[in-house]
Amino acid sequence: MSDYVVSAPMAPFVPVAGGGCFPARRIFCVGKNYSDHVREMGGDAKISSPVFFTKPSDAIVLSGLEIPYAKGTSNLHFEGELVVALKEGGSNIRSPEEAEAKIFGFAAGCDLTRRDLQAAAKEKGAPWDAAKAFDQSAPIGAIMPVAEKSLQVIEASRLRTLVNGEVRQDAALSEMIWSTPEILMGLSQYFELKVGDLIFTGTPAGVGPLSVGDKVEVRVDDLPELSFSIGPKE
Ligand code: MN
Repeated sequence: MSDYVVSAPMAPFVPVAGGGCFPARRIFCVGKNYSDHVREMGGDAKISSPVFFTKPSDAIVLSGLEIPYAKGTSNLHFEGELVVALKEGGSNIRSPEEAEAKIFGFAAGCDLTRRDLQAAAKEKGAPWDAAKAFDQSAPIGAIMPVAEKSLQVIEASRLRTLVNGEVRQDAALSEMIWSTPEILMGLSQYFELKVGDLIFTGTPAGVGPLSVGDKVEVRVDDLPELSFSIGPKE
């Protein structure tokens, strides 16, 4: 029996390939982590460097579901991404080896974005929360443990995003400006990472708008596929 004065929310989770559930704590995201995406967004890849932002963990949507077209936008974009799940936390991670030892596994994810609101926020120097951290903005596929697919195998993989069966993003994960261990090392200089944290590692070029009725698939070679469809606005 607890002293909660209203009903406590259910903890978000992500299924694990082979069985079990990964309890999600926080979602960190990396922006501007592929040069060709920086360029397509109008940035200068030579002077740009990756940035961190967050989504609430209750924005997670499991694979196979329909997501309503997000309210408050007329330019909802897909961003296919590799997602990293942590089995151990840490502050001030100093080496790639130390970072790698904290990884539980990997998943395919989609960083849904209200691009019109993001453009307006960038112009005003305003926060990105309404553009990035909205309800159901973090679809994620089942997590493959590193015991099955090591960091080295994942880093040699390709990421593809398909919309209605057409390839829209196709990039080598080795093109990431910050590698997965470098992301963990960087994040841990600002946050004490914790078991259960998920990290969206950034998107390559090819992002674009979604329409009601679209079917999205994000594939990272042998990871479990993420698929979802876009339903009518609520
Ligand atoms: Mn992104």
